[in-house]
Amino acid sequence: MDRVRCAICSSENSEPFCSAESPDGNFTVIFNLVKCADCGLVYLNPRPDIKEMSRFYPEEYYKKPSPAGKGIPNAIIAFFIYLRKKRVCKYKTSGKILDLGCGSGGFLVSMQDRNWETFGVETSESGLRLCLEKKLNVRGDMNFPDGYFDVVTLWHSMEHMENPVSALRDIRRVLSGDGILLVSVPNIESMEYRLFKRFWFHLDLPRHVCHFSPATLENLLKKTGFKILKTSHYSMEYNPYGLIQSIMNVFTPEFNFLYKIMKRNQSPGGNFILNAAISLAIMGIFAVPAFCFCYVFSLFKLGGVIHVYAEKTD
Ligand SMILES: [Zn+2]
Repeated sequence: MDRVRCAICSSENSEPFCSAESPDGNFTVIFNLVKCADCGLVYLNPRPDIKEMSRFYPEEYYKKPSPAGKGIPNAIIAFFIYLRKKRVCKYKTSGKILDLGCGSGGFLVSMQDRNWETFGVETSESGLRLCLEKKLNVRGDMNFPDGYFDVVTLWHSMEHMENPVSALRDIRRVLSGDGILLVSVPNIESMEYRLFKRFWFHLDLPRHVCHFSPATLENLLKKTGFKILKTSHYSMEYNPYGLIQSIMNVFTPEFNFLYKIMKRNQSPGGNFILNAAISLAIMGIFAVPAFCFCYVFSLFKLGGVIHVYAEKTD
């Protein structure tokens, strides 16, 4: 484990914020989040080194859903990806688009039509391999010409980055003068975090190394030469499921039980029937109310995500 400074302001001054185990299980380490005393960023400290961190990105992290996760879940994923495309098209309807941290490339596949030239950057070997299998134009570095892109997207990838300042400076360089940056990250000041703390689905330690609030995200964007055009806190893709899975995490013996089955292609340990029964009961009770709660939270800027459109400052 390495001791690190604040990723935004480089300060070493911090105070304890929260401690939690990895949701993956099978690991006995407790991870600590601290809050920067100077800029307020919540970040993982100490942090696993590159070799230790690689254990938390196994092959199945990027794999397609298991047979149990096909059918309806795949249709839901396709719908969420369609919503991402709609978000992009609010500001730009054609051009060159770069998805930074594109995972297995689902979003890039959805953007492939005659209006868009698609590019991706993915640093994990397994994610990159899946993208190349799909014949996507994806690489592991930001070696693109200056001002090359009309749109750059960061769909829940910046919270995984150890150096978001460097990433945003790279983005600023490759984004055209009237280009748009879309950033979506979990909101550490959300009602979901306030209610569930270490049970919060989007805490995801130690993979999420930086935990942004609306203020720290704005500060980071300003520091790297961007200004925010619009902020929202509702995501149908992330908020209701994040809330329901967080409630389940309080009651099921297995952490992220449903997520592991549906998305991660993992065989959860423990008592399958007990975990499934509790999960189904919570789903039955909260599936509809979760959408309403999340919508109300977002009205008060307490939604589970922060989604911003930004452009370069002069
Ligand atoms: Zn700081």
